Amino acid sequence: MNIILLGPPGAGKGTQARKLVEERGMTQLSTGDMLRDAKESGTEMGKRVAGVMARGELVTDEIVIGLIEEKLEANPEGSFIFDGFPRTLAQADALEELLAKHGKSLDAVIEMRVDDEALVARITARSTCGDCGEVYNDQTKSWPADGKCANCGSTDQKRRADDNEDSLRTRLMAYYKQTSPLVGYYHCKGTLRPIDGMGSPDEVAGALAGELG
Ligand code: AMP
Repeated sequence: MNIILLGPPGAGKGTQARKLVEERGMTQLSTGDMLRDAKESGTEMGKRVAGVMARGELVTDEIVIGLIEEKLEANPEGSFIFDGFPRTLAQADALEELLAKHGKSLDAVIEMRVDDEALVARITARSTCGDCGEVYNDQTKSWPADGKCANCGSTDQKRRADDNEDSLRTRLMAYYKQTSPLVGYYHCKGTLRPIDGMGSPDEVAGALAGELG
């Protein structure tokens, strides 16, 4: 099975992708994580995209399509969760071609619907474990008082450089302008499955499971 998690920043795509990896053995392909890794390891591409990401704009289609292509080629038997990709119509077309090339197809596009105010509140409160990727929220699931990640014991609590209000405004604008047309695109293709993303992670996971079967 191959699915897309579609939704604005803070919709909970990463949290749900992690659950699917654990529960169904699928492979998460997050272009945001791949770009952050490239930036942290100081590759040429990482240096090129750093400013664009910090401002909250989209990096070029060519770069992210190339990243996804590499991952598909490295794991031809995989069952994928596309998290944060595609984000433009050109990326959606490229994904369709890449999947076809590997004899795969898209089973569902899960549109996670969340109110704008909730997105801002979630994003400005979020942090993650730098080692295992566990996601925390200062209000609902705060980083443990002993300073250690509840999942792996690491003390590496990270906040994303682009999780600030300025960058978030640009990221939301990019979502509505460049990514939300994909809702209509996948609706026409018959693969769109909207779910309510406002509940707790477990509630949203239940709604997601209801769509995936
Ligand atoms: P994310 O972790 O998905 O919120 O992505 C963080 C940042 O990486 C975005 O604000 C963009 O600058 C960049 N990015 C991630 N995925 C894509 C994509 N599919 N297309 C263009 N830019 C992306």
